[in-house]
Amino acid sequence: MLLKRLYHMPEGWVAERDASGELLNPPDFRAISIQNTGPEAEQNFSRRIIEGGIAEGWISQGQGKITLHGVDGTEAPVDLVYTVLHMPGTYCCHCNMKLDDDPSGASNRAHVAERHGDAPSPDAQNPAGYRVTTAYECVLDPEQHARFNTRAVQAAQQARMTAMPSQAPVPTNGTEAL
Ligand SMILES: [Zn+2]
Repeated sequence: MLLKRLYHMPEGWVAERDASGELLNPPDFRAISIQNTGPEAEQNFSRRIIEGGIAEGWISQGQGKITLHGVDGTEAPVDLVYTVLHMPGTYCCHCNMKLDDDPSGASNRAHVAERHGDAPSPDAQNPAGYRVTTAYECVLDPEQHARFNTRAVQAAQQARMTAMPSQAPVPTNGTEAL
């Protein structure tokens, strides 16, 4: 997924930097512009993104959803609604149950042994039969996926370019790939 940060840019704003290149007069954050939501509806959000977005006011979380409050290419408000499949934590690969966050893994191994016996792990990458995720594992609303996925956005841009061949491409600096 590709998001772009928009800022309040005062008239005639010029970057001022110290000797190390640090920006001394950062403009105020205004909004998140949704460039695309990636090729798949599934999306993993790091804790850093979720906590940062909540602190800045463009992410909210509740009722099993994570919502990104952004704007589209015309700066019309868009709320992208993701259903949370897994919060960060430890999960059984067999039955998908949320397990204890146990650094030793002892209680997780006990769950797998008691409930699933000698059955091989269904997840080849986690042969012990349980896995630890540090991300919020989410899936985007299907209609929004159809509208904002990478291919759909590229096709819409292509259609606009064909209609207006002289239009300059949108600058892409300040984008953040997730
Ligand atoms: Zn289980």
